[in-house]
Amino acid sequence: MTLRVGVIGGGQLARMMIAPAVELGLDIRVLAEAEGMSAQLAASAVGDYRDLETVRAFASTVDVVTFDHEHVPQTVLRALVDDGVAVHPGPDALQFAQDKLVMREKLAELGVPQPDWAAVSDSAALQAFIDDHGGKAVVKTPRGGYDGKGVRVVRNADEAADWFLDSGDALLVEELVSFSRELAQQIARRPSGQMVAYPVVETVQRDGVCAEVFAPAPGAGERLSQMAESIGRQIAEGLGVTGMLAVELFETDDERILVNELAMRPHNSGHWSQDGAVTGQFEQHLRAVADLPLGDPTPRADWSVMVNILGGPAQGAFEDCFDAAMTEHPDAKIHIYGKAARPGRKVGHVNTTGDDLDDAVYTARAAATHFA
Ligand code: ADP
Repeated sequence: MTLRVGVIGGGQLARMMIAPAVELGLDIRVLAEAEGMSAQLAASAVGDYRDLETVRAFASTVDVVTFDHEHVPQTVLRALVDDGVAVHPGPDALQFAQDKLVMREKLAELGVPQPDWAAVSDSAALQAFIDDHGGKAVVKTPRGGYDGKGVRVVRNADEAADWFLDSGDALLVEELVSFSRELAQQIARRPSGQMVAYPVVETVQRDGVCAEVFAPAPGAGERLSQMAESIGRQIAEGLGVTGMLAVELFETDDERILVNELAMRPHNSGHWSQDGAVTGQFEQHLRAVADLPLGDPTPRADWSVMVNILGGPAQGAFEDCFDAAMTEHPDAKIHIYGKAARPGRKVGHVNTTGDDLDDAVYTARAAATHFA
């Protein structure tokens, strides 16, 4: 019988699982938040992922449940597991991607290198941390942040006063890491425990949003690559992650790497692998959650580059941009998410590969620029 994979959430990550699911002969079904979502093509249900009965009804139509995002509440996830549903990643793993304080505590327990941090419940505790860390720090809301929302660099506790007022819960405060660049390490892990590692990549953020990715991370020697991979494997195993795991990392001037945060699903830092690796992350995620043998994560080229298309053109102009980008850059792989343009919104990306990094970067940027 055809294995049915259910994806909760109808964004572009669910959308990009559709093509590999078709190729693998899997039946993919999506629980979308609304009509007209990016993954509309496979949307078999529309409803609220926070509502247990909605999710339960969807889960009853599939063999395994996975996700496009990490926002399904723990109560819903645990009820599914109690019902006997295969949920990957499961709630025990997902809690560490849902709450940055819970993650920091667990990583400390595992001895994984991370920035200095503390849980602070009031302004006095935050000010004390700031004073102890050179007069500045990064404050984060533990839950619900994405793309830099819920992250604030502060020099004074007053700058987070609204967050203390809004939530009675503790905030996460971290040292402001002086990093030379940001990296990401991806691992795929099956329920049986089999794991494969992608090469560590460099990610470039603009305004808190991933803008570009270079794979592998330029200049990454054996030592750095092995360090990133072993941190990734340790986290995947230690947290019991199933599916794709992305570990966002800071590389410091003195060649240390520190864990920033985790994502337990395909991740923007892995889009390059669609066209640049033997097995792309979306196919790999499906294999992992369906407990099928994992694919080879080896790059197909010396260099792969991903440039996000952010914002997108004014209404009606999309086809013209697409035509021009394809005409001028036939070697660029253009991925479009079917989302309406809005300033800063991720509406697509461009992948390129080659044996010359500068060429690959130039082509990806040039093709993406057509959509600006
Ligand atoms: P989000 O969950 O919104 O992606 P992150 O925790 O990844 O938030 O932070 C977003 C960005 O803010 C990071 O990519 C990094 O550029 C910056 N940042 C986060 N934490 C720190 C830190 N402790 N020191 C320096 N920069 C940080």
